[in-house]
Amino acid sequence: MSHAIAGGGIAALAAIRAIRRVDAAARITLVSAEDPCCYFRPMTPLVVRGERRPEDLRPEADALAGVRVVTGRATSLDAAARVLGVEGGERIPYERLLIATGSSPCVPEIAGVGEPNVHYLRTLADALALREAARPGAAAVVLGGGFVGIKTAEALAQRGVAVTVVEREGQILLPRLDAAGAALVAAALEARGIALALRDTIAEILPRGRGVRLASGRALASDFVCIAVGVRPSVAWLAGSGVAVEKAVVVDERGQTSLPGVYAAGDVAQIRDPVSGRSVVSALWTNAVQMGRVAGTNMAGGTAAWAGGPEVFNAAEIEGVPMVSVGEVLAEGERAHRVRRGPVYRKLVLDGDVLSGAIFLGEVRNAGVYSALIAARTPLGRLKDKALAGTLTYADVALGR
Ligand SMILES: Cc1cc2nc3c(=O)[nH]c(=O)nc-3n(C[C@H](O)[C@H](O)[C@H](O)COP(=O)(O)OP(=O)(O)OC[C@H]3O[C@@H](n4cnc5c(N)ncnc54)[C@H](O)[C@@H]3O)c2cc1C
Repeated sequence: MSHAIAGGGIAALAAIRAIRRVDAAARITLVSAEDPCCYFRPMTPLVVRGERRPEDLRPEADALAGVRVVTGRATSLDAAARVLGVEGGERIPYERLLIATGSSPCVPEIAGVGEPNVHYLRTLADALALREAARPGAAAVVLGGGFVGIKTAEALAQRGVAVTVVEREGQILLPRLDAAGAALVAAALEARGIALALRDTIAEILPRGRGVRLASGRALASDFVCIAVGVRPSVAWLAGSGVAVEKAVVVDERGQTSLPGVYAAGDVAQIRDPVSGRSVVSALWTNAVQMGRVAGTNMAGGTAAWAGGPEVFNAAEIEGVPMVSVGEVLAEGERAHRVRRGPVYRKLVLDGDVLSGAIFLGEVRNAGVYSALIAARTPLGRLKDKALAGTLTYADVALGR
């Protein structure tokens, strides 16, 4: 069987491994806009910090043995002829196609956004460019206080850059942390010297590194700017192909799109979560791996189905503060159960007898078991008191005690 894969991220890599497991002789062509492809994207902040080299991000490069890699962008899909078009004119025939083009950073409409000193952090090339810009003593503004923005700010500060994070909300890390959790992380960032400009945004990026003007009127000096205001699925190249796209490429639980022989996986795919029933674009690494595995198995003639993954799950360590945020975390009132002990903060959100969300900050030891309960929407029953005390273990859940 011949397979073509558009996009070379982790969903593609997981699919290649799955295809090979079912059909070791499968012919696979991978079309990747990035060279090198198939690296561990969440580790890019470590490249900015200078703690990892680009080659350290590719521990699974051996999986590409025997795969024909075409560097370039996929530009068209002719589903009737079963041909993938690539920039430069190459046309790749396929029996099965995987759409795995992931997502790319949103570009806000701000005056000066096209200036050469404006950066993003999505690719390895972005990380290398940021590392180059991050000279000790430089000043930078990061727009966006989500996970990518905060991770970028942290990496830059560690290199001796004076960083201000500009965030339009009244707190950072919304919607993954509530105000109390965000305040703890903000304190850790400020202790490192990272300044936060909340309830504000960039109105204009001035030319030639002369800084930025904020909507509040404040001026900030900055040699460069990094924009981190979210991502959107990379689906533009599919226009006219006939594949069903809503927020992203719609797939069923087998990873199959609306077109015969065409599958999609990862950030570019939209799938119905079997537990919540919602149609979601997860943009999570772990889910991209699972979806790639499922699609690859089915493409090669095997049988696999998406069992669902956490719709929203973030695990990170920011300035030495470990954190896990899973599910619905912003609820207040009677549904919210909090514990606050010094640098440790835990919030559990209940939906009747079901755990629907949790924040663990400062102490994340049992977070895995809570995440599993949230994903499966398992009623707590007799486990409720232990759950609220934060002491629930896998053994408790397995034994129902
Ligand atoms: C800094 C950072 C930190 C992150 N941290 C975490 C984390 O801690 N936990 C977590 O769960 N997730 C994290 N993520 C998100 C995670 O990286 C993504 O969910 C994951 O990479 C998605 O994998 P993917 O294979 O679907 O797509 P991508 O990783 O986006 O890969 C898609 C590839 O396709 C290429 N491409 C796009 N269009 C085309 C085209 N037309 N033709 C050919 N190639 C194309 C892209 O250039 C890219 O190389 C992080 C992301 C970033 C940027």
